[in-house]
Amino acid sequence: VIFEFIKTFFGMTLNLIISFSPFSNVSLQCFMNSILQCLSNTHDLRDYCLRNTHRTDLNNNSRAKAALMEEFAKLTQTLWTSASSEAISPSDFKMQIQKYAPRFVGYNQQDAQEFLRFLLDGLHNEVNRVTVKPRSLMEDFEHLSDDEKGKRMWNKYLESEDSKVVDLFVGQLKSTLTCSECGFCSTVFDPFWDLSLPIAKTSGEVSLIDCLRLFTKEDVLDGNERPTCHRCKTRRKCTKKFTIQKFPKILVLHLKRFSECRVRTSKLSTFVNFPLKELDLREFASDNSVNAVYNLYAVSNHTGTSLGGHYTAYCRNPCTGEWYTYNDSRVSPMSSSQVRSSDAYVLFYESVSTFFFLHHESSKEDDSNITAERVTTNIFLFSDQQSLFFLLWKVIEVVSCIISLQLEQIGK
Ligand SMILES: [Zn+2]
Repeated sequence: VIFEFIKTFFGMTLNLIISFSPFSNVSLQCFMNSILQCLSNTHDLRDYCLRNTHRTDLNNNSRAKAALMEEFAKLTQTLWTSASSEAISPSDFKMQIQKYAPRFVGYNQQDAQEFLRFLLDGLHNEVNRVTVKPRSLMEDFEHLSDDEKGKRMWNKYLESEDSKVVDLFVGQLKSTLTCSECGFCSTVFDPFWDLSLPIAKTSGEVSLIDCLRLFTKEDVLDGNERPTCHRCKTRRKCTKKFTIQKFPKILVLHLKRFSECRVRTSKLSTFVNFPLKELDLREFASDNSVNAVYNLYAVSNHTGTSLGGHYTAYCRNPCTGEWYTYNDSRVSPMSSSQVRSSDAYVLFYESVSTFFFLHHESSKEDDSNITAERVTTNIFLFSDQQSLFFLLWKVIEVVSCIISLQLEQIGK
Protein backbone atom coordinates (compact mmCIF):
# COMPACT_ATOMS: atom_id res chain seq x y z
CA VAL A 1 0.00 0.00 0.00
CA ILE A 2 2.76 2.40 0.97
CA PHE A 3 4.69 1.62 -2.18
CA GLU A 4 1.63 2.36 -4.29
CA PHE A 5 1.20 5.52 -2.34
CA ILE A 6 4.74 6.74 -3.01
CA LYS A 7 4.47 5.75 -6.66
CA THR A 8 1.28 7.69 -7.08
CA PHE A 9 2.65 10.71 -5.29
CA PHE A 10 5.70 10.67 -7.50
CA GLY A 11 3.46 10.50 -10.51
CA MET A 12 1.51 13.43 -9.21
CA THR A 13 4.57 15.60 -8.77
CA LEU A 14 5.69 14.80 -12.29
CA ASN A 15 2.32 15.76 -13.55
CA LEU A 16 2.43 19.11 -11.82
CA ILE A 17 4.01 20.60 -14.88
CA ILE A 18 1.44 19.14 -17.19
CA SER A 19 -1.08 21.34 -18.80
CA PHE A 20 -2.56 21.86 -22.20
CA SER A 21 -0.70 23.14 -25.15
CA PRO A 22 -1.93 25.14 -28.05
CA PHE A 23 -0.69 24.45 -31.54
CA SER A 24 1.96 26.62 -33.01
CA ASN A 25 0.63 28.20 -36.10
CA VAL A 26 3.48 27.06 -38.31
CA SER A 27 1.80 24.25 -40.07
CA LEU A 28 -1.88 23.77 -39.41
CA GLN A 29 -4.63 25.93 -40.75
CA CYS A 30 -7.00 27.45 -38.23
CA PHE A 31 -9.95 25.22 -39.22
CA MET A 32 -7.80 22.16 -38.45
CA ASN A 33 -6.62 23.62 -35.15
CA SER A 34 -10.15 24.39 -34.12
CA ILE A 35 -11.46 20.89 -34.86
CA LEU A 36 -8.45 19.11 -33.35
CA GLN A 37 -8.81 21.04 -30.11
CA CYS A 38 -12.49 20.11 -29.93
CA LEU A 39 -11.65 16.44 -30.53
CA SER A 40 -8.76 16.39 -28.08
CA ASN A 41 -11.15 17.65 -25.40
CA THR A 42 -13.55 14.80 -26.15
CA HIS A 43 -13.11 12.88 -22.93
CA ASP A 44 -13.50 9.36 -24.25
CA LEU A 45 -11.56 9.87 -27.47
CA ARG A 46 -8.74 11.49 -25.52
CA ASP A 47 -8.53 8.51 -23.17
CA TYR A 48 -8.61 6.13 -26.12
CA CYS A 49 -5.46 7.85 -27.40
CA LEU A 50 -3.77 8.35 -24.02
CA ARG A 51 -4.16 4.68 -23.14
CA ASN A 52 -2.99 3.62 -26.60
CA THR A 53 -6.12 1.50 -26.91
CA HIS A 54 -6.26 2.48 -30.58
CA ARG A 55 -3.27 0.23 -31.24
CA THR A 56 -5.26 -2.90 -30.48
CA ASP A 57 -7.90 -1.73 -32.93
CA LEU A 58 -5.56 -0.71 -35.71
CA ASN A 59 -6.56 -2.40 -38.83
CA ASN A 60 -3.60 -2.88 -41.09
CA ASN A 61 -5.74 -3.56 -44.11
CA SER A 62 -6.66 0.07 -44.36
CA ARG A 63 -5.31 2.01 -47.23
CA ALA A 64 -3.28 4.54 -45.29
CA LYS A 65 -1.63 1.83 -43.19
CA ALA A 66 -3.23 3.33 -40.12
CA ALA A 67 -0.85 6.26 -39.98
CA LEU A 68 -3.54 8.91 -39.53
CA MET A 69 -4.84 7.38 -36.29
CA GLU A 70 -1.33 6.92 -34.99
CA GLU A 71 -0.45 10.56 -35.67
CA PHE A 72 -3.75 11.75 -34.23
CA ALA A 73 -3.09 9.74 -31.06
CA LYS A 74 0.47 11.06 -30.82
CA LEU A 75 -0.81 14.59 -31.23
CA THR A 76 -3.43 14.08 -28.51
CA GLN A 77 -0.79 12.58 -26.22
CA THR A 78 1.53 15.52 -26.82
CA LEU A 79 -1.28 17.99 -26.22
CA TRP A 80 -2.04 16.48 -22.85
CA THR A 81 1.46 15.82 -21.61
CA SER A 82 3.76 18.61 -22.74
CA ALA A 83 4.75 21.67 -20.73
CA SER A 84 2.05 24.28 -20.49
CA SER A 85 3.45 27.21 -22.38
CA GLU A 86 5.00 25.51 -25.36
CA ALA A 87 3.10 25.36 -28.60
CA ILE A 88 3.06 22.14 -30.55
CA SER A 89 3.88 21.91 -34.20
CA PRO A 90 1.81 19.05 -35.54
CA SER A 91 3.82 18.56 -38.72
CA ASP A 92 3.64 14.74 -38.75
CA PHE A 93 -0.09 14.91 -38.39
CA LYS A 94 -0.26 17.40 -41.19
CA MET A 95 1.74 15.10 -43.41
CA GLN A 96 -0.79 12.33 -42.88
CA ILE A 97 -3.69 14.67 -43.54
CA GLN A 98 -1.93 15.72 -46.72
CA LYS A 99 -1.77 12.09 -47.81
CA TYR A 100 -5.27 11.25 -46.73
CA ALA A 101 -7.07 14.40 -47.74
CA PRO A 102 -4.89 16.59 -49.94
CA ARG A 103 -7.76 18.96 -50.63
CA PHE A 104 -7.64 20.22 -47.03
CA VAL A 105 -4.09 21.43 -47.25
CA GLY A 106 -3.04 24.78 -48.58
CA TYR A 107 -6.23 26.79 -48.29
CA ASN A 108 -7.26 28.50 -45.13
CA GLN A 109 -10.83 28.98 -46.25
CA GLN A 110 -11.98 25.46 -45.60
CA ASP A 111 -15.04 24.30 -43.82
CA ALA A 112 -14.35 23.05 -40.30
CA GLN A 113 -17.38 20.77 -40.31
CA GLU A 114 -16.33 19.15 -43.58
CA PHE A 115 -12.88 18.62 -42.16
CA LEU A 116 -14.35 17.07 -39.02
CA ARG A 117 -16.39 14.60 -41.09
CA PHE A 118 -13.40 13.72 -43.18
CA LEU A 119 -11.11 13.28 -40.20
CA LEU A 120 -13.56 11.16 -38.22
CA ASP A 121 -14.18 9.01 -41.28
CA GLY A 122 -10.44 8.55 -41.78
CA LEU A 123 -9.85 7.65 -38.15
CA HIS A 124 -12.82 5.30 -38.16
CA ASN A 125 -11.59 3.42 -41.24
CA GLU A 126 -8.26 2.74 -39.62
CA VAL A 127 -9.67 1.38 -36.38
CA ASN A 128 -12.68 -0.36 -37.88
CA ARG A 129 -13.13 -3.66 -36.07
CA VAL A 130 -14.60 -5.10 -39.25
CA THR A 131 -11.83 -6.14 -41.59
CA VAL A 132 -13.89 -8.06 -44.10
CA LYS A 133 -17.13 -6.34 -44.91
CA PRO A 134 -20.07 -8.64 -45.55
CA ARG A 135 -21.77 -8.46 -48.92
CA SER A 136 -24.85 -6.36 -48.52
CA LEU A 137 -28.01 -8.34 -49.01
CA MET A 138 -31.32 -6.60 -49.37
CA GLU A 139 -33.29 -7.81 -46.41
CA ASP A 140 -36.96 -7.20 -45.97
CA PHE A 141 -37.70 -5.64 -42.60
CA GLU A 142 -41.08 -4.26 -43.65
CA HIS A 143 -43.11 -6.72 -41.59
CA LEU A 144 -41.31 -5.70 -38.38
CA SER A 145 -42.27 -3.04 -35.86
CA ASP A 146 -40.47 0.31 -36.26
CA ASP A 147 -38.33 -0.25 -33.20
CA GLU A 148 -37.31 -3.71 -34.31
CA LYS A 149 -36.60 -2.46 -37.80
CA GLY A 150 -34.43 0.33 -36.37
CA LYS A 151 -32.46 -2.17 -34.29
CA ARG A 152 -31.93 -4.53 -37.24
CA MET A 153 -30.80 -1.67 -39.45
CA TRP A 154 -28.37 -0.51 -36.76
CA ASN A 155 -26.92 -4.01 -36.37
CA LYS A 156 -26.60 -4.23 -40.12
CA TYR A 157 -24.63 -0.99 -40.09
CA LEU A 158 -22.35 -2.33 -37.35
CA GLU A 159 -21.65 -5.42 -39.44
CA SER A 160 -19.55 -3.24 -41.70
CA GLU A 161 -18.83 -0.07 -39.70
CA ASP A 162 -17.84 -0.69 -36.11
CA SER A 163 -15.19 1.29 -34.26
CA LYS A 164 -14.53 3.46 -31.25
CA VAL A 165 -15.36 6.46 -33.44
CA VAL A 166 -18.73 4.92 -34.30
CA ASP A 167 -19.32 4.03 -30.63
CA LEU A 168 -18.96 7.70 -29.77
CA PHE A 169 -20.22 9.82 -32.63
CA VAL A 170 -22.77 7.89 -34.67
CA GLY A 171 -26.48 7.94 -34.02
CA GLN A 172 -29.49 6.83 -36.01
CA LEU A 173 -32.11 8.95 -37.67
CA LYS A 174 -35.59 7.76 -38.53
CA SER A 175 -37.50 9.32 -41.38
CA THR A 176 -41.18 8.62 -41.69
CA LEU A 177 -43.05 9.08 -44.95
CA THR A 178 -46.82 9.32 -44.72
CA CYS A 179 -49.00 9.04 -47.82
CA SER A 180 -51.53 11.87 -47.98
CA GLU A 181 -54.00 9.63 -49.83
CA CYS A 182 -54.12 6.41 -47.83
CA GLY A 183 -52.19 7.35 -44.70
CA PHE A 184 -49.67 4.54 -45.17
CA CYS A 185 -46.43 5.10 -43.21
CA SER A 186 -43.08 3.85 -44.35
CA THR A 187 -39.93 4.29 -42.34
CA VAL A 188 -36.27 4.55 -43.26
CA PHE A 189 -33.37 4.42 -40.79
CA ASP A 190 -30.05 6.06 -41.49
CA PRO A 191 -26.90 6.48 -39.42
CA PHE A 192 -25.72 10.06 -38.84
CA TRP A 193 -22.36 11.46 -37.74
CA ASP A 194 -23.66 14.92 -37.03
CA LEU A 195 -26.83 16.91 -37.61
CA SER A 196 -26.78 19.93 -39.90
CA LEU A 197 -29.36 22.31 -38.52
CA PRO A 198 -30.98 25.08 -40.54
CA ILE A 199 -31.16 28.48 -38.88
CA ALA A 200 -34.50 30.25 -39.03
CA LYS A 201 -34.17 33.64 -40.71
CA THR A 202 -35.17 36.25 -38.17
CA SER A 203 -33.85 39.62 -37.17
CA GLY A 204 -33.46 38.57 -33.56
CA GLU A 205 -31.95 35.56 -31.89
CA VAL A 206 -33.10 31.96 -32.25
CA SER A 207 -32.68 29.06 -29.88
CA LEU A 208 -30.97 25.78 -30.65
CA ILE A 209 -34.27 24.03 -29.98
CA ASP A 210 -35.85 26.26 -32.70
CA CYS A 211 -33.18 25.02 -35.13
CA LEU A 212 -33.83 21.41 -34.14
CA ARG A 213 -37.58 21.95 -34.55
CA LEU A 214 -36.96 23.37 -38.00
CA PHE A 215 -34.78 20.37 -38.84
CA THR A 216 -37.43 17.88 -37.70
CA LYS A 217 -40.40 19.84 -39.03
CA GLU A 218 -42.83 17.90 -41.15
CA ASP A 219 -41.94 18.44 -44.77
CA VAL A 220 -44.34 18.06 -47.71
CA LEU A 221 -43.01 16.19 -50.74
CA ASP A 222 -45.05 17.13 -53.77
CA GLY A 223 -44.68 17.58 -57.52
CA ASN A 224 -41.50 16.03 -58.84
CA GLU A 225 -40.48 15.06 -55.32
CA ARG A 226 -43.46 12.77 -54.78
CA PRO A 227 -42.30 9.37 -53.54
CA THR A 228 -43.94 6.05 -54.38
CA CYS A 229 -46.45 4.89 -51.79
CA HIS A 230 -46.10 1.16 -51.14
CA ARG A 231 -49.81 0.71 -50.60
CA CYS A 232 -51.13 2.88 -53.44
CA LYS A 233 -48.35 1.54 -55.70
CA THR A 234 -48.05 4.94 -57.29
CA ARG A 235 -46.36 8.26 -56.65
CA ARG A 236 -48.22 10.27 -54.06
CA LYS A 237 -47.90 13.51 -52.21
CA CYS A 238 -46.34 12.57 -48.86
CA THR A 239 -45.20 14.17 -45.65
CA LYS A 240 -41.75 13.44 -44.32
CA LYS A 241 -40.58 13.80 -40.76
CA PHE A 242 -37.29 13.11 -38.96
CA THR A 243 -36.98 11.77 -35.44
CA ILE A 244 -33.89 10.56 -33.61
CA GLN A 245 -34.04 6.81 -33.20
CA LYS A 246 -30.72 6.30 -31.47
CA PHE A 247 -28.88 9.07 -29.67
CA PRO A 248 -25.08 9.10 -29.97
CA LYS A 249 -22.84 9.53 -26.94
CA ILE A 250 -21.30 12.58 -28.56
CA LEU A 251 -23.76 14.71 -30.46
CA VAL A 252 -22.24 17.06 -33.02
CA LEU A 253 -24.58 19.85 -34.11
CA HIS A 254 -23.57 21.85 -37.16
CA LEU A 255 -25.27 25.21 -37.56
CA LYS A 256 -25.81 25.84 -41.25
CA ARG A 257 -24.45 29.37 -41.34
CA PHE A 258 -23.20 29.10 -44.89
CA SER A 259 -25.85 28.96 -47.55
CA GLU A 260 -25.14 28.31 -51.19
CA CYS A 261 -26.55 31.10 -53.28
CA ARG A 262 -26.48 31.10 -57.04
CA VAL A 263 -23.41 33.28 -57.26
CA ARG A 264 -21.51 32.75 -54.05
CA THR A 265 -22.00 31.54 -50.54
CA SER A 266 -23.30 33.84 -47.87
CA LYS A 267 -23.08 33.62 -44.12
CA LEU A 268 -25.80 33.96 -41.50
CA SER A 269 -24.54 35.59 -38.34
CA THR A 270 -27.75 34.97 -36.39
CA PHE A 271 -27.20 34.52 -32.66
CA VAL A 272 -28.21 30.97 -31.83
CA ASN A 273 -28.85 30.58 -28.14
CA PHE A 274 -27.74 27.15 -27.00
CA PRO A 275 -27.61 25.69 -23.49
CA LEU A 276 -24.28 24.76 -21.92
CA LYS A 277 -25.99 22.28 -19.69
CA GLU A 278 -28.95 19.98 -19.91
CA LEU A 279 -29.95 20.20 -23.52
CA ASP A 280 -33.01 17.96 -23.42
CA LEU A 281 -33.80 16.36 -26.77
CA ARG A 282 -36.58 14.05 -25.71
CA GLU A 283 -39.12 15.83 -27.93
CA PHE A 284 -37.07 14.84 -30.99
CA ALA A 285 -36.82 11.16 -30.09
CA SER A 286 -38.76 8.46 -31.93
CA ASP A 287 -39.51 7.02 -28.53
CA ASN A 288 -40.29 9.79 -26.04
CA SER A 289 -39.49 7.65 -23.02
CA VAL A 290 -35.74 7.69 -23.71
CA ASN A 291 -33.39 9.86 -21.75
CA ALA A 292 -31.59 12.28 -24.04
CA VAL A 293 -29.87 15.01 -22.06
CA TYR A 294 -26.60 16.58 -23.18
CA ASN A 295 -23.96 18.94 -21.84
CA LEU A 296 -21.84 21.13 -24.09
CA TYR A 297 -18.07 20.62 -24.02
CA ALA A 298 -16.68 22.26 -27.16
CA VAL A 299 -17.53 24.79 -29.83
CA SER A 300 -15.81 25.47 -33.12
CA ASN A 301 -16.32 29.16 -33.95
CA HIS A 302 -16.10 31.00 -37.22
CA THR A 303 -15.58 34.74 -37.28
CA GLY A 304 -15.73 36.82 -40.41
CA THR A 305 -17.64 36.34 -43.62
CA SER A 306 -17.97 33.56 -46.17
CA LEU A 307 -15.15 35.15 -48.14
CA GLY A 308 -12.64 35.37 -45.36
CA GLY A 309 -12.62 34.43 -41.74
CA HIS A 310 -10.95 32.72 -38.87
CA TYR A 311 -11.68 29.64 -36.78
CA THR A 312 -11.19 29.34 -33.04
CA ALA A 313 -12.34 26.80 -30.46
CA TYR A 314 -13.87 27.06 -27.01
CA CYS A 315 -13.37 23.86 -25.04
CA ARG A 316 -14.28 22.70 -21.58
CA ASN A 317 -11.45 20.76 -20.01
CA PRO A 318 -12.85 17.24 -19.45
CA CYS A 319 -11.22 17.06 -16.01
CA THR A 320 -11.64 20.50 -14.52
CA GLY A 321 -14.79 21.69 -16.24
CA GLU A 322 -13.09 25.04 -16.91
CA TRP A 323 -13.48 26.69 -20.32
CA TYR A 324 -10.58 27.73 -22.54
CA THR A 325 -10.23 29.68 -25.77
CA TYR A 326 -7.95 28.12 -28.36
CA ASN A 327 -6.83 30.57 -30.98
CA ASP A 328 -4.08 28.97 -33.07
CA SER A 329 -0.97 29.24 -30.94
CA ARG A 330 -2.69 30.92 -28.02
CA VAL A 331 -4.74 29.37 -25.26
CA SER A 332 -6.39 31.32 -22.48
CA PRO A 333 -8.99 30.68 -19.80
CA MET A 334 -12.44 32.09 -20.37
CA SER A 335 -15.69 32.45 -18.53
CA SER A 336 -18.44 30.01 -19.41
CA SER A 337 -20.71 33.02 -19.94
CA GLN A 338 -18.68 33.94 -23.04
CA VAL A 339 -19.13 30.57 -24.74
CA ARG A 340 -22.36 31.53 -26.47
CA SER A 341 -21.77 33.82 -29.40
CA SER A 342 -22.97 34.42 -32.92
CA ASP A 343 -19.70 32.87 -34.15
CA ALA A 344 -20.62 29.39 -32.88
CA TYR A 345 -20.51 27.03 -35.83
CA VAL A 346 -20.09 23.41 -34.70
CA LEU A 347 -21.32 22.39 -31.24
CA PHE A 348 -20.06 19.31 -29.42
CA TYR A 349 -22.41 17.85 -26.83
CA GLU A 350 -21.82 14.90 -24.53
CA SER A 351 -24.61 12.71 -23.29
CA VAL A 352 -25.07 13.11 -19.56
CA SER A 353 -26.13 9.52 -19.00
CA THR A 354 -23.11 8.33 -21.01
CA PHE A 355 -20.81 10.13 -18.66
CA PHE A 356 -22.16 8.30 -15.67
CA PHE A 357 -22.17 5.06 -17.55
CA LEU A 358 -18.56 5.44 -18.66
CA HIS A 359 -17.48 6.55 -15.25
CA HIS A 360 -19.08 3.53 -13.70
CA GLU A 361 -17.63 1.25 -16.33
CA SER A 362 -14.08 2.53 -15.92
CA SER A 363 -14.25 2.28 -12.15
CA LYS A 364 -14.91 -1.42 -12.57
CA GLU A 365 -11.62 -1.89 -14.41
CA ASP A 366 -8.95 -2.91 -12.05
CA ASP A 367 -5.47 -1.90 -13.08
CA SER A 368 -2.96 0.59 -11.85
CA ASN A 369 -3.04 2.56 -15.12
CA ILE A 370 -6.46 3.82 -14.28
CA THR A 371 -5.34 4.98 -10.86
CA ALA A 372 -2.38 6.78 -12.35
CA GLU A 373 -4.62 8.39 -14.90
CA ARG A 374 -7.07 9.57 -12.31
CA VAL A 375 -4.21 11.25 -10.57
CA THR A 376 -3.20 12.88 -13.83
CA THR A 377 -6.76 13.93 -14.26
CA ASN A 378 -6.80 15.59 -10.89
CA ILE A 379 -3.53 17.31 -11.51
CA PHE A 380 -4.98 19.31 -14.34
CA LEU A 381 -7.27 20.83 -11.83
CA PHE A 382 -4.78 22.62 -9.74
CA SER A 383 -2.25 23.46 -12.37
CA ASP A 384 -5.03 25.72 -13.59
CA GLN A 385 -6.61 26.80 -10.37
CA GLN A 386 -3.33 27.35 -8.56
CA SER A 387 -5.10 27.54 -5.29
CA LEU A 388 -3.64 25.95 -2.22
CA PHE A 389 -7.00 25.07 -0.83
CA PHE A 390 -7.96 23.43 -4.05
CA LEU A 391 -4.70 21.51 -4.13
CA LEU A 392 -5.20 20.22 -0.61
CA TRP A 393 -8.73 19.23 -1.39
CA LYS A 394 -7.60 17.35 -4.47
CA VAL A 395 -4.82 15.58 -2.56
CA ILE A 396 -7.34 14.41 0.01
CA GLU A 397 -9.59 13.22 -2.78
CA VAL A 398 -6.76 11.31 -4.48
CA VAL A 399 -5.55 9.77 -1.25
CA SER A 400 -9.00 8.61 -0.27
CA CYS A 401 -9.45 7.20 -3.75
CA ILE A 402 -6.19 5.24 -3.50
CA ILE A 403 -7.00 3.98 -0.03
CA SER A 404 -10.40 2.77 -1.10
CA LEU A 405 -8.86 1.02 -4.09
CA GLN A 406 -6.26 -0.63 -1.90
CA LEU A 407 -8.89 -1.72 0.60
CA GLU A 408 -10.81 -3.22 -2.24
CA GLN A 409 -7.71 -5.18 -3.26
CA ILE A 410 -7.16 -6.40 0.28
CA GLY A 411 -10.79 -7.35 0.47
CA LYS A 412 -10.30 -9.64 -2.49
ZN1 LIG B 1 -50.83 5.64 -50.27
